[in-house]
Amino acid sequence: MPNTASDRTIAPLETPRLGEPYLLTPGPLTTAYEVKEAMLRDWGSWDGDFRAMTAELRRQLLDIAGDTDGEFDCVPIQGSGSFSVEAMLGSFVPRDGKVLVLINGAYGNRIAQTLTYLGRDHVTIDKGDYMPPRGPEVAAALNADPDITHVIVVHCETSSGILNPLKEISDVVYASGRKLLVDSMSAFGAVPAGIADLRYEAIVSSANKCIEGVPGFGFVIARKSELEAAKGRSHSLSLDVHAQWETMNKTGQWRFTPPTHVVAAFLEALRLHREEGGVAARGARYARNRDVMVAGMREAGFETLLADRWLSPIIVTFFSPADPAFAFDRFYELMKQKGFIIYPGKLTVVDSFRVGCIGRMDEHVMRRVVEAARTSLTEMGVASAAPPAVALAERSRLAA
Ligand SMILES: *Cc1c(COP(=O)(O)O)cnc(C)c1O
Repeated sequence: MPNTASDRTIAPLETPRLGEPYLLTPGPLTTAYEVKEAMLRDWGSWDGDFRAMTAELRRQLLDIAGDTDGEFDCVPIQGSGSFSVEAMLGSFVPRDGKVLVLINGAYGNRIAQTLTYLGRDHVTIDKGDYMPPRGPEVAAALNADPDITHVIVVHCETSSGILNPLKEISDVVYASGRKLLVDSMSAFGAVPAGIADLRYEAIVSSANKCIEGVPGFGFVIARKSELEAAKGRSHSLSLDVHAQWETMNKTGQWRFTPPTHVVAAFLEALRLHREEGGVAARGARYARNRDVMVAGMREAGFETLLADRWLSPIIVTFFSPADPAFAFDRFYELMKQKGFIIYPGKLTVVDSFRVGCIGRMDEHVMRRVVEAARTSLTEMGVASAAPPAVALAERSRLAA
């Protein structure tokens, strides 16, 4: 029986053996030593051993997605995650289709920008830096515009860390007879989005997020009927999901040079994911990371951008302290000296920074992160970590 969050004894994970700092960033992230070690061997991309590795990777990702009926298939795509998002959009949105893009941060904006490059008609609901798109407003937009064929949503908007209400959105999309595409880049593998629980046509993620591999490819998990319909639709040779799918099914090979070492590392990362207990256990570890870190940071006087209800177990945005002695660049350097790489914020209205909860680390590490933040504040001469009043006013908009 798989371990559940409550019956797991929490042994500390190993610290990185190479003396590197922890990456408290949402990918690339801190990987296990075994994952790095898996890259020490060279593979021939056409060789039977590597073809078997590709087949195994696709099969395991479909397992994680919960494809019990064989209705979906998994197509890996070379490049960073954005390449897979672009491949999905160009392959599944017909040239005469129209997309409603739900935006509440940088990754939603990137999707709209990608559609502009592709020449695909689209409209947006833009909620600003972090307000969640809700079901009723999506339903209203769909009712008002019968030309919309697809909706695309970012599962965890990594720029603020908000976990968008995917199920609520999926329900209204299908109630009005449209199709849903999901950018689950930073959530897949740790936040459930099972095919049985939630309807969508395709979902994308990449090697270097919650599966804890190294960067080099992404993957599209899509309904086979959509994959078939995508034939001849893509604007791009290298990002044609249908062509990659067809070739992989026929020959077992990627169409162009695959990131062989990254694939080998990813299989090791998948093994560790399984060994840990799959999506539930991975999500539970990240949630503990978040809870321990957020509690400690709040105790130190920091405030989160989001109310608890919207906090993802992926990454958390904190307001920068109002104290004039605080400067992010200096804070970053002091944290780095203590072994932790944090992440600048992406809010437009107030200053902020982010701390990731994903990667090969656990609550023991998160306690040290909090301690390092406290010490860094003292070293900077920051008396209080409290944010400026304008930040708290901004946040109360979300509660309203
Ligand atoms: C990481 C990420 C991407 C992809 O970014 P790349 O830099 O291209 O890997 C896309 N969407 C979300 C939500 C992400 O977190």
